[in-house]
Amino acid sequence: MKKFVNQSLKSFNTFGFDVSAAEVYEVTQNSDLNELFNMGIFKRSFKIISGGSNLLLTKDIETPVILIRNKGIKLIEETQDYIYLEVSAGENWHEFVLYTVDKSWGGIENLSLIPGCVGAAPIQNIGAYGTEVKDTITRVNAFNINSGDTEIFENEQCKFGYRDTIFKNQVKDQYIITSVCFKLHKKWSPKTEYGDIKKQLSDNGIINPSIKSVSEAIIQIRQSKLPDPSKIGNSGSFFKNPVISKARAEELTKLFPTIKTFNVNDFEVKVAAAWLIDSLGWKGHQENNIGVHEKQALVLINKGGGKGKDILTLAQKIQESVKVKFGIQLEFEVNIW
Ligand SMILES: Cc1cc2nc3c(=O)[nH]c(=O)nc-3n(C[C@H](O)[C@H](O)[C@H](O)COP(=O)(O)OP(=O)(O)OC[C@H]3O[C@@H](n4cnc5c(N)ncnc54)[C@H](O)[C@@H]3O)c2cc1C
Repeated sequence: MKKFVNQSLKSFNTFGFDVSAAEVYEVTQNSDLNELFNMGIFKRSFKIISGGSNLLLTKDIETPVILIRNKGIKLIEETQDYIYLEVSAGENWHEFVLYTVDKSWGGIENLSLIPGCVGAAPIQNIGAYGTEVKDTITRVNAFNINSGDTEIFENEQCKFGYRDTIFKNQVKDQYIITSVCFKLHKKWSPKTEYGDIKKQLSDNGIINPSIKSVSEAIIQIRQSKLPDPSKIGNSGSFFKNPVISKARAEELTKLFPTIKTFNVNDFEVKVAAAWLIDSLGWKGHQENNIGVHEKQALVLINKGGGKGKDILTLAQKIQESVKVKFGIQLEFEVNIW
């Protein structure tokens, strides 16, 4: 296990903020966690970074930072219909998706090009283009920082919700995810109803989509809509889409007829946070080298040389203006440190 002191975290967060960490430990195998446990690191406060694509770093970090870099993809079982895999937490998410696409194993192709690592994927139940990772996860293996044991969380125990799980609530900061187990389909049917997938496939001349052609279409759509963090610092969607009651949504629709909502169940609807923010004129707003992306109102950006605390201030101003105009409290999707 490597240790770095006074390490810049600029290349470890996709916003590209140049804060420093007093001590950083790079975990490349599960036994490194036992070593950190024996060193008493987990008795103090500490932070975990995987791909750093869901983080807003607002200040230097004095507590130990643990970088998750363990690798490996294991085939656990293969049946006529399914493939069962165990994937180490430090594997890059998109590379893992491409690996499964290459083998024609279906289930996560709609989650192509999401940045970050496999171990962080269950934490906020990553989702895109009509798919959530929860539908392919069978179990999550995690190191208990209090006991030093590795425990298994079966799918139901993870309490998966919209960008939400037990790891963000009841057991927050108590476990380090070491690997994730997936069940993927050998017999597969494409999910193309969401967003522009059908249009992109048709533009690509595809009539009978394969896993690969769906993945490629998703990559093309994402590249046309979202800023590439290697060019413009960002953390994807900064805000969650708020969920409100159907009755409240009906009232809002009378006041704001173009408001965008999606049914969640018989009682609740999701409001497009991007619509709320855009309608208040924030899209393209810029100040102090940071701002709101010109094509996507949900994405806050660091144009280079900006500060994390300025992003936080801007995010709070956006929250406040949405609250005043629509009476809706926007929640952050990004973790603020
Ligand atoms: C351009 C862009 C597009 C994006 N698009 C999407 C999208 O479509 N859908 C979506 O859901 N998300 C999206 N995201 C957000 C982000 O990619 C995901 O949340 C991703 O899963 C974060 O992974 P990470 O490895 O970067 O996590 P990090 O940012 O490193 O960590 C996120 C949180 O998880 C904790 N953590 C990380 N690894 C572990 C571990 N092994 N054990 C315990 N805790 C851990 C960290 O402490 C932190 O609190 C996007 C981000 C960007 C920059």
